[in-house]
Order: sequence, then C-alpha cells, then structure tokens
Amino acid sequence: MTTDPIWRDPDWRGPGPGPAPEDAEVCVVGLGGSGLAAVKRLTESNRKVVGIDAGRIAGGAAGANGGFLLAGTSAFFDEATEVLGEERAGEIYAMTESAIGTLVGDRARAGSLRIAGSPRELESCRNHLEGLRAAGFKAEWYVGSEGEGLLIPGDTTYQPVHTARRTTERVLEGGARLHEDTRAVRIKPGFVDTDRGPIRCDHVIVAIDGLLGSVVPELAGRSRSERLQMLATEPVWRTVTTRAVYRRWGMEYYQQLPDGRITLGGFRDAEGDEAWTTSTETTPEVQDSLDELLQGRLGIDAPVRHRWAATVSYTDGILPICEEISPGLAVTGAYNGTGNVIGRLCGEALADQYLGGRSHWLDLLGG
Ligand SMILES: Cc1cc2nc3c(=O)[nH]c(=O)nc-3n(C[C@H](O)[C@H](O)[C@H](O)COP(=O)(O)OP(=O)(O)OC[C@H]3O[C@@H](n4cnc5c(N)ncnc54)[C@H](O)[C@@H]3O)c2cc1C
Repeated sequence: MTTDPIWRDPDWRGPGPGPAPEDAEVCVVGLGGSGLAAVKRLTESNRKVVGIDAGRIAGGAAGANGGFLLAGTSAFFDEATEVLGEERAGEIYAMTESAIGTLVGDRARAGSLRIAGSPRELESCRNHLEGLRAAGFKAEWYVGSEGEGLLIPGDTTYQPVHTARRTTERVLEGGARLHEDTRAVRIKPGFVDTDRGPIRCDHVIVAIDGLLGSVVPELAGRSRSERLQMLATEPVWRTVTTRAVYRRWGMEYYQQLPDGRITLGGFRDAEGDEAWTTSTETTPEVQDSLDELLQGRLGIDAPVRHRWAATVSYTDGILPICEEISPGLAVTGAYNGTGNVIGRLCGEALADQYLGGRSHWLDLLGG
C-alpha cells in the first residue's frame, strides 16, 4: 500500500532544485497544471520565465486528482446559468469544452456520466440536461449499468502527470527555468523570496490551488482549503465503466483506467468539518466510505494499492479566484474542486494579461 497517487510516473525525474534562482521577467510560483500553463504561454512568447515549486512538479492536487476533464464551472450548467446568466455561463462552458480539446487532442473522448443518487437528484439531472440542450451543448439521457442520469459526450479523462511531464519537457526546451524543492517564503509584486534565494522579476504569477490562502494571506478570507481523498485498486478484469462517472452531486466519483485499475474518490462529506484542513493524511472515515462504494456498490474485491489525499480550495461562489491583486502580482486558484480545465485557462489568462493581450476568460470571470 502506498500513499502516492496512482498517477506518479516512476520514470520521470523532474528538473530538481537546480542552481540558486535568478532574475526573470516573470516568476511563476506553483507548478501544477495552472502554473505550467502560464509558464508555457510565456515561454512561447519568448519571455524570460522562472517557475518554482515547493515540492515536485505536479506534486500537489495537479498530480493527485480524479483525472476528470469536465466542461463548465463547479456548478451544474443550469445552476451556473442562474448565477451567471445564460450568455456568460454559455461562453464559459464553450471555452472549457474547447480547452478539453487542447488537452487531449484527437484522442476519442470517454464522456462523463452524472448519475442520480436520489429522486431529487434525478430531477436535477433533467434540468441539467435541458439547460445544456437549450444552450446548444451536447448531452443525452442515460440509463445503464452505472445507474440513471446524464451523459455528456464532450467530457473525458486524462493522465494528469503525463500531461504535466509533456508540458515541462516542452517549456524546458523553450528556455524556461524550472526549480523544484524551492519554496516561496515571501511574495511581493516583482519579488519572490525563496528558501534558496531571492528572485527579482517584473511580475509574479502565483498559481496554487490548495494552499492559496496560506501562501497569499490577502486571500485567506476569500478561499478555504479542503482535503479530498481517493484510492486505486489493482486491475479489475471486467469492464466496470468506460466513462468518468460521478454521483450524489459529485460527492462520489470513479473511473476505470485502460489497464483495468479503478480509481475512486469523494465522500468529503463523511468527515464533516474535519475536511477543512491543509493536512494530506488520509482518514478512516473517508477511506472506509470509499471501500464501501468499491466493494458494496460496485462489487469489486480487487486489492487496494493506493490511498491518498491532497488539498484544494473553495470560494463562496462557483468561480475561482484569478486576478491581479496589485500591479506586478497576479494569483489564481480556488477552483472549487474542479481545476484541471479551469486552472489551465486561468494560468494562460494571467500570462496573456501580462503579455498585454486582452483576456476574454478574465472578462468572463470578472463579470
Ligand atoms: C482528490 C482530488 C480529486 C480531484 N479530482 C479532480 C477532477 O477529477 N477533475 C478536476 O478538474 N479537478 C479535480 N481536482 C482538483 C484539481 O486537482 C485541482 O483544482 C488542480 O489540480 C489545481 O491545480 P493547480 O496547478 O492550480 O494547483 P496545485 O496542484 O495545488 O499546484 C500548486 C503547486 O504549488 C506548490 N506550492 C505550494 N506552496 C508553495 C510555495 N510556498 N512555494 C512554491 N510552490 C508552492 C505545490 O507544491 C503544488 O505543486 C481534484 C483534487 C483532488 C485533491
């Protein structure tokens, strides 16, 4: 049994800590999916970029998540429409759908299944379906072995660490300098002090989901860290599902990897307020509930080989924090549990803003 997420790539050695950090035009703090997206955009524009991470690249939530790529915000589309209005919610949905395409390329999409866990949720699935169809997005009703609910064919899954590895290799080739095991201890506009030395720059982009409020104390009142947990089994030789499945308002989710292994997560409600923590220890309350889903409902008795936890942040609403908090210092994070797609768009948008281009994504988030 390991507490490493299933996605870890034993063959990949990242760039390591490297020499003492140096000056740069832009310093990106946090090298998960969103930080790497910012580095990539800036490198492609020939900017002198330094990226630092306190641990390994994609060593936080970016390499410890469910691997789902779902379009839209953290709210179901019909609910997002109520909060944001039809046009804004529709544009956000369309941009995230297209970002999924950028992430997975031509690879066939598995689709996602939102399965109802109660009659009330079944009704919500119907509203969700109607909302998507009315706005011209693809979705269909689903009844099958996983249960009854909604099938969204444009959603899919990915291997987050492989994606991070590809991006890392590309930006290093493009001239970016990335330092692992290098922690930012003080961040100011145009300056990052690290435990390996200072970095002077024109601009800082902080791209940290889970620990956002600790690293940028100004945001502590607007974001809250929460622990999410998962497990993964040895290969299961029957087909359990071919899609990204989530149920009970997203509180439970699973997929089966091409090699047959099941990854399964959720039950953040099983530990109540204890989940509001930056600790990444797994807990029996949640892991027992995951076992119950695995063995009881899915009928799988394959041995569990990985159990892990990681931290994300939530805001009070359905949109993340993604903004310049003062000239020379921009931040992104608090993706409300769903940052694989939105986080990338946010990282790119903050890079675009630094490059002087307009960012339609930032306009949409800002309202
Ligand atoms: C169990 C779980 C399941 C999830 N499932 C999904 C899913 O299926 N689909 C989905 O879209 N989202 C999912 N999420 C959320 C998603 O993983 C995150 O929103 C996303 O990965 C955020 O990526 P990031 O790059 O912004 O941040 P992070 O992955 O949090 O990366 C931030 C990086 O910053 C580094 N860092 C922290 N402090 C410092 C410092 N002081 N100095 C330097 N570096 C620092 C960390 O080491 C880390 O590598 C899940 C999350 C978890 C935990």
